[in-house]
Amino acid sequence: MRTVTYVSNNTVEIVDKPIPEIEPDEVLVKIAGAGLCHSDLHLIAMGDDNPLIGGTLGHEGAGYVHEVGSAVTTWKVGDPVLVALVLSCGECRECLAGRDSQCLVASPRGALAPAAPGIGTPGNMAEYIAVKSHHLDPLDGLDPVDAAPLADAALTPMHAINTVRDRLTGDATVVVIGIGGLGHMGLQIIAATSGSRIIAVDTDPAKLAYAESHGAIAVPSGPDAAARILEETDGRGADVVIDFVGVQPTVDLSVAVIAQGGAIRFVGLGGGGFEYVAGIVEMPWGVNIERPYGGNRSDQREALALAKAGKIHVDVTHYPLDDAKRAFEDLHHGSIQGRIVLVP
Ligand code: NAD
Ligand code: ZN
Ligand code: ZN
Repeated sequence: MRTVTYVSNNTVEIVDKPIPEIEPDEVLVKIAGAGLCHSDLHLIAMGDDNPLIGGTLGHEGAGYVHEVGSAVTTWKVGDPVLVALVLSCGECRECLAGRDSQCLVASPRGALAPAAPGIGTPGNMAEYIAVKSHHLDPLDGLDPVDAAPLADAALTPMHAINTVRDRLTGDATVVVIGIGGLGHMGLQIIAATSGSRIIAVDTDPAKLAYAESHGAIAVPSGPDAAARILEETDGRGADVVIDFVGVQPTVDLSVAVIAQGGAIRFVGLGGGGFEYVAGIVEMPWGVNIERPYGGNRSDQREALALAKAGKIHVDVTHYPLDDAKRAFEDLHHGSIQGRIVLVP
């Protein structure tokens, strides 16, 4: 079968590999669509001396059940399914507490990322993938090609938003930074599940126009953004900032506009940072900061329910799987609205 394989630093190739054989508790999924995440760009830039080299990429995938293992009773051939991002065990302390994105088996303390398809195990950018039957969610009513990004581009914002759920009151202001694959879903999830006011920040006028068309106040990223946001909030600052970029200017902006008692979620992995000083400094009191990863299966089910109800919609551009190199380049150049989905 054809796969998109990470072959060397910043290089992917279409590589032929055998169709995987399944264990008794596994399902073979025929991939219909595989989303391309900005994290894939970060992953393939990790150098030539990297354990992921040679692996099939793709942590967002959906398709149809093609074959079921002898012990599988929950799925039948032809079922449309979404492949989970975090390959959680379902039995450790964190999983049992509903924090399965921090599963102690998939993500031991210090791991660079939890075990996921395309991040240490064979990914979804292929014609087939073998997965444990409990790592699938039903897609009934959704097209698996366009639904693939729900596995991360919707899951991850859904989770980050659920960690600040009690703050999303009708009089709150949320700043969403980066209206790309994740951000365009985050914006829609906040709009669909809260009455809070949304301020969207991006460098790209097309992304800002998209945000405005979804009811957000658009603020161009740059030196004037902080002043604009403070002005929009009468100097109080934003109750919540979700940074889906994480480069130095957006980390600086997040810290500059957070309200007293507000919450920042750093989702983007752009390498920016800030110095925390435990002292009498300018950062407002009571600020809560978290670095969320992916999401729990409960967040996944919630995002799926919103998609099935038509309340959120992935803006998708299809590329043939064979054009993966071009897709990676186009995402790198920032010319993509919404999410690229590779179609085998
Ligand atoms: P994307 O490329 O689709 O979108 C990035 C967006 O950020 C684009 O709209 C771009 O115009 C905008 N942008 C770039 N520079 C900016 C700046 N200085 N100010 C404002 N906007 C700017 O990326 P994506 O797939 O949505 O991923 C976003 C980030 O989230 C990546 O760093 C990715 O690795 C990370 N990520 C993290 C998790 C997690 O679990 N924490 C999960 C998935 C992705
Ligand atoms: Zn991702
Ligand atoms: Zn676990």
